[in-house]
Amino acid sequence: MEELLHKDFLEKDDLVRLLSLQGDDMKRLLARALEVKLKYLDNKVHLRGLIEYSNICRKYCLYCGVRSLNDKVHRYVLTDEEVLDCAQQAMDLHYGSIAIQSGERSDKAFTDKITELVRAIKKLSDGKLGITLSLGEQSEEVYREWFEAGAHRYLLRIEASNEELYYRIHPHDERHDFQQRLSCIDTLLKLGYQTGTGVMIGLPFQTVEDLADDLLFFRRKNVAMVGMGPFIPHQETPLYAYADQIPSAQDRMNMTLKMIAVLRLMMPEINMVAATADQTLDPMGREKAIMAGANVIMPNLTPNSHREDYLIYPDKACVGDKPEECSSCLDIRMRAIQHEILYDAWGDSLAFTKSH
Ligand code: SF4
Repeated sequence: MEELLHKDFLEKDDLVRLLSLQGDDMKRLLARALEVKLKYLDNKVHLRGLIEYSNICRKYCLYCGVRSLNDKVHRYVLTDEEVLDCAQQAMDLHYGSIAIQSGERSDKAFTDKITELVRAIKKLSDGKLGITLSLGEQSEEVYREWFEAGAHRYLLRIEASNEELYYRIHPHDERHDFQQRLSCIDTLLKLGYQTGTGVMIGLPFQTVEDLADDLLFFRRKNVAMVGMGPFIPHQETPLYAYADQIPSAQDRMNMTLKMIAVLRLMMPEINMVAATADQTLDPMGREKAIMAGANVIMPNLTPNSHREDYLIYPDKACVGDKPEECSSCLDIRMRAIQHEILYDAWGDSLAFTKSH
C-alpha cells in the first residue's frame, strides 16, 4: 500500500486498486493526497466567482435539468448590467477571478455578446479579474475571439471519457458528438487556454475501470485543471429512470474523494475544483474535497432570483445564500480545516504556468 501511494507513475491497474480502497486504507490515500498537495502547492484555496449567465441551451444531455427538452424550466439570460454587477461584486469581495457558465449556444448573437462582456469585465476591473469561460463546444474562431478578448481559462467537461458511456448519458445525434467534444478540448489546448475538463462520478453503467480511464485521459491530455463531482439524478431527465441503479450518496461521495486524491498523486500541480455538488451530497463535502487534494472553490455570484432556474441537478447547495454571506462562510469553513483563501489573485494552475 505505501509503495503504491509513493509510486512515481501510476498504471491503470494501480488506479483501479486505489479507487477500490475502503475504510482505513481509503483514509490513508486521502491523507497522502493532502501531503502531496501541501508539498507541491500550498494550503491556499483559489476562488472563481461563478456567474450562471443563461440557462438557454440547444442541447438535451440526458442527465441535465436545464436540457432544452425540459419545458418546466423558466429560461433566462442575464442582462449586461447584471453580469457587470456580478463582476463588480467579485472585485468588492476580493475574488481574483470569475467563471462565466451558460447553457450551450453557438449563434452569432450569443458569441458576440460574450466577447463584448469579456471585454467589458476586463475594462471594469482594469484587467485585474481573471476570466474562466465554460460555454460548451464552439468553433476555433469563437474560442480564439474570446481568448483575444481576455478570457484565459476554459472548462469543457468530457463527462465520460469512454465513448460508449458518453452515448449512454447523451443522445447519439449531431448535437451531441463525442469526437466533436474531444476536438474542442484539443483546440482549447492548442489556442493556449488553461484548459480544464472533468467527469461525473457514480453514473449508471459506469465501472471503476471507466473512472481509472478518465484519470488516464486527464493525464494524457495534460490539462491544467479538472472539475469533477458526483452524479445527482434530476427528476425531469431521462437518466432519472436509472436512479435506483447508482451507488448510494455516501458511495458516490467517497468515490469522488478517491478520484480527487488519486489525481492529485498523478498530477500534483494542477488546479482541482471542490464542486458544489460535493456539498449537495454531504454538508461537509467541499471541505472533504479540499482535504483530499482539491484547491479551487466556485462561490456563486448569480443573482439569487435566477439561481433556482439553473439547476442542472436538484437541491443544489447554497442557492439561497447572498454572495457576501457565501464569502465569509467560505473563509470560516476553510480556516477550520487549516486552509486559507487566496484573495485578489487569478490563482493560475502551477502545472500550466511552469509549462508556458
Ligand atoms: S449539460 Fe450543458 S450542454 Fe448539456 S443540456 Fe445541460 S446545459 Fe446544455
